[in-house]
Amino acid sequence: MTVVKEPSFRESTEIMFNRAVRLMDLSPGLVEKIRICNATYRVSFGVRLRGDIHTFTGYRSVHSEHMEPVKGGIRFATSVNQNEVEALAALMTYKCALVEAPFGGSKGGLCINPRDWEPHEMEQITRRFAYELIKRDLIHPAQNVPAPDMGTSEREMAWIADQYQRMNTTDINARACVTGKPLSGGGIAGRVEATGRGVQYALQEFFRHPEDMAMAGLTGTLKGKRVIVQGLGNVGYHAAKFLSEQDGAKIIAVLEFDGAITNPDGINIEALKQHILATGGVKSFDGGTYHADGGPCMELEADILVPAAMEGAINLTNADNIKTPLIIEAANGPVTAGADEILRNKGVVIIPDMYANAGGVTVSYFEWVKNLSHIRFGRMRRRQEENRHRLLMDELERITGKSLSPEFRQDYLHGADELELVRSGLEDTMRGAYQAISAMLHSRDDVTDMRTAAFLVSIARVAKSYQTKGL
Ligand code: GLU
Repeated sequence: MTVVKEPSFRESTEIMFNRAVRLMDLSPGLVEKIRICNATYRVSFGVRLRGDIHTFTGYRSVHSEHMEPVKGGIRFATSVNQNEVEALAALMTYKCALVEAPFGGSKGGLCINPRDWEPHEMEQITRRFAYELIKRDLIHPAQNVPAPDMGTSEREMAWIADQYQRMNTTDINARACVTGKPLSGGGIAGRVEATGRGVQYALQEFFRHPEDMAMAGLTGTLKGKRVIVQGLGNVGYHAAKFLSEQDGAKIIAVLEFDGAITNPDGINIEALKQHILATGGVKSFDGGTYHADGGPCMELEADILVPAAMEGAINLTNADNIKTPLIIEAANGPVTAGADEILRNKGVVIIPDMYANAGGVTVSYFEWVKNLSHIRFGRMRRRQEENRHRLLMDELERITGKSLSPEFRQDYLHGADELELVRSGLEDTMRGAYQAISAMLHSRDDVTDMRTAAFLVSIARVAKSYQTKGL
């Protein structure tokens, strides 16, 4: 038997980039400039914990500075390494260009298992890592703005923001040095759900494009569609929750690190999430059948597969067995280059990561703008909007001599608050980016998959930006 070696995550990203860039009319020099990662900073630092000094290694990689600040999350995981951080930083460049967030691409990571440490120890470690990055301007409102990623959340972002503030006491824009902060610490409504919400908007838009649905052999709407979700972390949970509760999709399988739950009638996602939070895993959940070996559940008959965990989940070992006609990459890099080829040859439609999970950075962009403008979205307009609506309704009732129903009055009167504005901005962004990808896909005979189409849209924008600068 011949053993086929899987390329690394970074190589995989580059193979996909190269496939797309071959179809473009760009000079080799410019292609190289866009492809390579500009810089990766690696730091090892010691923290005194439990009576001893513990050394940790972290990275912040900057892929492209065609726009600044550069943007991308910080991941806390034992799997973090330079190769991974660089692949993720490159994806951030393409992602930001695709959703027109005015940032270059960056990514960071700390090699750590957060479960090994108490919260107060995590705070010390996070602050120390942040200190190392801040003093080199690798965290800075105008130069490099991190956000949460795997293993990090609002909590870590609040510590990072506070650390920056302590080191830059007179910087009036200090809060804009990081996004994904808690609402009470300068965050924005709707950031936690944003990536999952973006996956929902992406799928809704897919089901508004009959020509794309035809490529996957799917008809109808999201209602009743059978969905497999791999990973019920922040992204997988919100995507699964919204798709099942709001669009009527049936989540027939959820895969987690300790096994999988299946239920052909649809899993109650909120109940399963509460079970995971209470018990630490999916085992013993009574709303479906438990499978200790979860992997094969990704290969069940269904309509949509949502890989929402680690990179490389769909690879040469299982790509051939995947039966869903549609995959939406909620995680970064869940399909390896080899698996991508197998799936394309089978006619599986893949909505690529750089678009599918861009909801997070989109709302991060809104948060950054909110921090720089020092005012919550909607604060100036909301009541004025309500008053104008009231004027119109009163006049309508006066002219017709009839009264509008109290429900209609209430719905129409209501001015948008920050959460509604964020969702509106996110939906508009996700729909616009989808339309750009789909238009590219259908305008050229030599483009047959969504990933290549997304790359073409994105690389063209990055190239334009370099060309405008005179590079
Ligand atoms: N970590 C997220 C991502 O991979 C969010 C990045 C951000 O908001 O800057 O897209």
